[in-house]
Amino acid sequence: MSSVDSVIILGAGASFSDGAPLQNDLIKEFCSTALIRKLGFSSKGIPIEKLSEIEINQLSQIEKYFDLFWGADLLSSFDKKFSYPTFEDCLGILDIAQNRNESFGLEYRSKLNEFRNSLIFLIAKTIEEKLTASESHNHETLINRLVKQGTLRSTAFISLNYDIIIDNTLTGIRNSDGFDLDYGIEFMNFKRDPNSDENSWGRPNPTKSILLFKLHGSLNWLYCPTCNQIEITPKIKGAIKAFTQSEKCYACGTPMEPIIVPPTYFKEMENVYLQQIFQRTDEILRNSKKIYICGYSLPDADLHIKYLLKRAELLNRNPLEIFIINNHKGKKNPKKIDKKKRFLQFFKRKTMVKYTELSFEDFCRDGIQD
Ligand SMILES: [Zn+2]
Repeated sequence: MSSVDSVIILGAGASFSDGAPLQNDLIKEFCSTALIRKLGFSSKGIPIEKLSEIEINQLSQIEKYFDLFWGADLLSSFDKKFSYPTFEDCLGILDIAQNRNESFGLEYRSKLNEFRNSLIFLIAKTIEEKLTASESHNHETLINRLVKQGTLRSTAFISLNYDIIIDNTLTGIRNSDGFDLDYGIEFMNFKRDPNSDENSWGRPNPTKSILLFKLHGSLNWLYCPTCNQIEITPKIKGAIKAFTQSEKCYACGTPMEPIIVPPTYFKEMENVYLQQIFQRTDEILRNSKKIYICGYSLPDADLHIKYLLKRAELLNRNPLEIFIINNHKGKKNPKKIDKKKRFLQFFKRKTMVKYTELSFEDFCRDGIQD
């Protein structure tokens, strides 16, 4: 077994602190910029980068989808007051229809998969734009601190986010500091020739490996449903590549698909790689001594995460400590108390749960002070 004794769980709040949009605002964020992109100039009349043909097609799919499912003419008239559906609702409804082999009318029978892919494209694009514009680098501060303290090697990461902020931070030190980002799964890229193929990605060296388990998928992974294999697009968001360049599997030519699973729909996931990740997450949590839960408040929908945490609590032979880092500036008191209660309610041994007053930023910079 590995020498990992600390696990850092990164929830949406961690990504938010570095500029990623919140789950509930994703659709709204997208729509507010889509119109500008479509028109080709900003609200101040400044011309912006023109859309590619594939992007224009994606946008028109999304327009059709919003009109049909949510009764909104979103892209031609952005409405601040409109109550936007969540990304999860948008994706979940399409997933269930596909799983049950049902449709929403003859005309859309073959379109559901296109809608789904366009939606994921939208999310990838929106997240990418927000992150590019952001100036916070908390994840980087965190990794630098762990390297400095000499504890990175004994730390594993669990990310509940699709974005690749932590991935890029760890890739940044991949070759320079003797660390090797390890997602815990086998990628197609391992088989590619590192001398002649820019898409090759070496198998992580077990003695250097830093584990990152992404339970809900990742924007830099592409899946070939024919080969049943995953490819990693290093430092590039795979979903974007797949839709702007129509990425095909290099082995068989099948169009690659993104791997993104909304938490509410997690129980239906059948992807063998995500199952593998789930299993390895379970193992690492059960053997850890310290778990740091960052920017995450144990929502009802995430029963699969609760399940893993319960197993970690009950099956762990170590004197496990759990730290919650969930504070941020402006968080109101009643909300804080409610969230604290949720954690204390959930765990059996209340004394092992330390609900800190720290924000993610504080934790990244200073860690937990005794
Ligand atoms: Zn293939």
